[in-house]
Amino acid sequence: MSEIAERLHTVEREIEQAQAKRKAGTDEPVGLIAVTKNHGVEAMREAIDAGAAIIGENRVQEAAQKKETLERSVSWHLIGHLQTNKAKQAVRLFDLIHSVDSEHLLDAVQEAAQKIHKVQDILIQVNLAKEDSKFGIYKEDLPILVQKADMMKNVHLAGLMCIAPNYEDVEECRPLFREMREIFDRLKEFPLFSSEMKYLSMGMTHDYRIAVEEGANLVRVGTAIFGARQY
Ligand SMILES: *Cc1c(COP(=O)(O)O)cnc(C)c1O
Repeated sequence: MSEIAERLHTVEREIEQAQAKRKAGTDEPVGLIAVTKNHGVEAMREAIDAGAAIIGENRVQEAAQKKETLERSVSWHLIGHLQTNKAKQAVRLFDLIHSVDSEHLLDAVQEAAQKIHKVQDILIQVNLAKEDSKFGIYKEDLPILVQKADMMKNVHLAGLMCIAPNYEDVEECRPLFREMREIFDRLKEFPLFSSEMKYLSMGMTHDYRIAVEEGANLVRVGTAIFGARQY
């Protein structure tokens, strides 16, 4: 078995163990996104052949190039920040866009999706810890953006995403993940027309176990599967 396949299976096992410990969303399956940014298509093929079903990329251009040469059928998720001028290309490439964080971007995605007669699945990115260095909206601004997304014909709001701060002690992420799950559960109670709050995307290599324990149902893992990225 390749090293990548082995590491992928280790992550899958860790997710199962974390899942057994959780109190919120206990009946939900957890989707593993193999984050392949800065890794080549050869590594991607190995992961997919070992069972990875979702690929996460953070740049539109990089994903477009890889998609042309990959020759594998897999679900593509955009996990990185999206500029409005790339919305058109993103809508053509990705099954789920995790990083919608403004009305402006929402409008751009709606317009791009309408042009190709697609209903684009999106998540709203929340900057829960209000870090200056991160994208995402503050939780206070969530209701307005949710309502706006819910009214759009070519956008389907499927849930929320967050990136936890890079704390030295990873346990410090726990209360944030717990609060995200509470916000997510409250939104699920909202009388929305077309949206279906299904996904809570949180957790990366250093904190995905805690994220799953606290109710994440999509995790985005790169380094633990593919090793360190070379920039
Ligand atoms: C790169 C990236 C990840 C994966 O990070 P690792 O630490 O390598 O697991 C997850 N989410 C986002 C938004 C990223 O940009």
